[in-house]
Amino acid sequence: MKLINENFIKIPATYLFSEIAKRVNLLQQQEPDAQIIRMGIGDVSLPLPDVSVDAMIKAAEEQRHSTTFRGYGPEQGYDFLRKAICENDYHSRGISMEMDEVFVSDGSKSDTGNIGDIFSSDNKVAITDPSYPVYVDTNAMAGRAGEPGETGAWSNIVYLPCNEANGFVPELPREEVDLIYLCYPNNPTGTTLTHAQLKKWVDYAREKKSIILFDAAYEAFITEENVPHSIYELEGAREVAIEFRSFSKTAGFTGTRCAYTVVPRGLMAYTRNGDAIALNRLWNRRHTTKFNGTSYVVQRAAEATYTPEGKAQVKALIGYYMENARIIREGLLKAGYTIYGGINAPYVWAKAPAGMSSWGYFDYLLKDKHLVTTPGAGFGASGEGFVRFSAFGSREATIAAMKRLE
Ligand SMILES: *Cc1c(COP(=O)(O)O)cnc(C)c1O
Repeated sequence: MKLINENFIKIPATYLFSEIAKRVNLLQQQEPDAQIIRMGIGDVSLPLPDVSVDAMIKAAEEQRHSTTFRGYGPEQGYDFLRKAICENDYHSRGISMEMDEVFVSDGSKSDTGNIGDIFSSDNKVAITDPSYPVYVDTNAMAGRAGEPGETGAWSNIVYLPCNEANGFVPELPREEVDLIYLCYPNNPTGTTLTHAQLKKWVDYAREKKSIILFDAAYEAFITEENVPHSIYELEGAREVAIEFRSFSKTAGFTGTRCAYTVVPRGLMAYTRNGDAIALNRLWNRRHTTKFNGTSYVVQRAAEATYTPEGKAQVKALIGYYMENARIIREGLLKAGYTIYGGINAPYVWAKAPAGMSSWGYFDYLLKDKHLVTTPGAGFGASGEGFVRFSAFGSREATIAAMKRLE
């Protein structure tokens, strides 16, 4: 008999974005003239930097001629890009990094999901709550999450609540955990950790021999000095952390697709017998077996973001979104809302008025203000009572949205 992986049928259908779409469509039917502004999106709206488009055109032209044509490239990425990553994202911050510690991929969604392949299904997993849904769902697929409960929480996942009471800084778990997912700057709360706050986690992981899976997709949006751009800025992190970076939000590559994962050579995990095994070797094996490399043309586009011109263009993109974030923060504060985030991340986490749920607040903003947000409860139990405003829209729409809240 052909048997399925039954973990898949335990996972509740992700109804968040379909439910949002349903409610928006209904409003549009009821009020055909409503000028709806979408501030729920997690996708960028500005086009690619010119340097990246030019690099792709040039690379495409190379693909036209037999003398410059490239077929399969190295699965881990071309040296030109891995070198640019090491120099610009790490060496420039005083972090040592070798090319063979960097694995270029087609996205951090795939990487944060696939990384589970190299870990035993017996590991205890801790995930911040609320969170990017990929961490929970991929662990559920791998059978590491246990059973889903009535409230949607999985029996075997240790949730690390991030809420007003703890200032959105997760507390160390009481029980021992093996794999810890941290995403900072954070999606969806838009908050982040300082060096001192992240250090606690690195120290914990060193003491307990656990691994931190650090998603730094929003690193480029950091504006404050005391916020780490890489977990490897912390002493000892190379022994305990894998870092995920993406060009998606940084340089508008959401549709172009390029990211990378860092697995330091000295990072170890253990067999049941207690033998230490280098995770770099395992990830290399996994990556070269199940992935055949990011397209040459796209890797050239990513490389171009590290040129002086490219850096200036990326900075302008980020600056545009962070000005939107500032406008959203100011608008919501003026309207009397309690808000978090939006200073080191393109998301503002807004608290629903007293007694209102996430979906209640969402519906109020949709029906009364014609604004689409994302209900916080969709990101986990601790997201209840909040909605997420995204700064990835156009300036015009952002300003218009805040006018409606005055
Ligand atoms: C957008 C995002 C990513 C990036 O995903 P890609 O697959 O690289 O586009 C990763 N992590 C989080 C938390 C994100 O919000």
